[in-house]
Amino acid sequence: MKALQHVAVGAEPEVREIPTPEPGPGEVLLRVTAAGVCHSDDFVMNNPPENFGIELPLTLGHEGAGEVTAVGAGVRGIDIGTNVVVYGPWGCGNCWSCAQGLENYCSRAAELRILPPGLGAPGAIAEYLVVDSPRHLVPIGDLDPVATVPLTDAGLTPYHAIKRSLGKLRPGSWTVVIGSGGLGHVAIQLLRHLTSTRVIALDVNDEKLDFARSVGAHEAVLSDANAAGKVRKITGPAGASLVLDFVGFQPTIDTAMAVAGVDSDVTIVGIGDGKSGARIGFGVSPYEATATAPYWGARAELIELIDLAHDGVLDIAVERFSLDDAPEAYRRLAAGTLRGRAVVVP
Ligand code: NAD
Ligand code: ZN
Ligand code: ZN
Repeated sequence: MKALQHVAVGAEPEVREIPTPEPGPGEVLLRVTAAGVCHSDDFVMNNPPENFGIELPLTLGHEGAGEVTAVGAGVRGIDIGTNVVVYGPWGCGNCWSCAQGLENYCSRAAELRILPPGLGAPGAIAEYLVVDSPRHLVPIGDLDPVATVPLTDAGLTPYHAIKRSLGKLRPGSWTVVIGSGGLGHVAIQLLRHLTSTRVIALDVNDEKLDFARSVGAHEAVLSDANAAGKVRKITGPAGASLVLDFVGFQPTIDTAMAVAGVDSDVTIVGIGDGKSGARIGFGVSPYEATATAPYWGARAELIELIDLAHDGVLDIAVERFSLDDAPEAYRRLAAGTLRGRAVVVP
């Protein structure tokens, strides 16, 4: 089968011919119908693989959708032909976090060398994908896999980040969303649908700011050295109740801290260069503000998002690429010229 593989640090991914996998005991084989391209792949491809415990070549793609085509020995409860999306942050299934469905925070994943598809295990940007357990599949019925697959990360990650702050998003509150790309444009829609908070989006050019407005941002501000002042003019002295930073480099983290209000949540989702940090302390950060860096989301939250998708309340912007054109999707991602999510359709 064809697969898109990360072969060397700093190099472009390559479309390569590899053996079609077969499901082992307990596993499920999917014919991939759609696979999303996430900015985290860019980070992974430009850093030493040992930092993430991965080996090269690695088939990319941690957002996957497919049709169940075969199951391994002992698999019950999922029918051949079912359309599914894949819950990516695989855990052991048994520890306390996993028992709550928070497999993204599995306490035993490192010890058991369990890695997500596309981030260690073979990923979804291929014709076929092996999923380690039917527990990690969510049926999507007649939803379009291409428009739905971004929900597995570009939806799930902001959904998890927003849910933990819902109690702070009272009417009249402000939420600042920094970076309205794959994750950010879903975050804006989720904020608008789930809360009555008012949303200020930050991004780097007018086209991106228009895009943010088109998916529901009340205000859109250019993300430069003056951004914090402009945002503060909109929010007034109270500042924002929640800041979601989908960029995570030092300048955006500094903006995030500068616009956050008392008792706010500053939630840094973007990976940036992996070295940046929020400065916290008396007189430095707002009183009682909480800074946090969440990772992905819970199984139940992906099921909730698929239910939201069935309700038709989300409008996920996707740009389609064939498997042969998948390297171009990564070029566009790195150049920052995508609108919403790039989705590879094998
Ligand atoms: P993306 O490339 O689709 O979107 C990034 C957006 O940020 C773009 O619209 C870009 O124009 C904008 N941007 C860039 N620099 C900016 C700046 N200085 N100020 C404001 N906006 C700026 O990326 P994505 O796939 O949505 O991922 C966003 C970030 O989240 C990445 O760092 C990614 O690695 C990370 N991520 C984290 C998790 C997690 O679990 N923590 C999960 C998925 C992705
Ligand atoms: Zn991702
Ligand atoms: Zn676990």
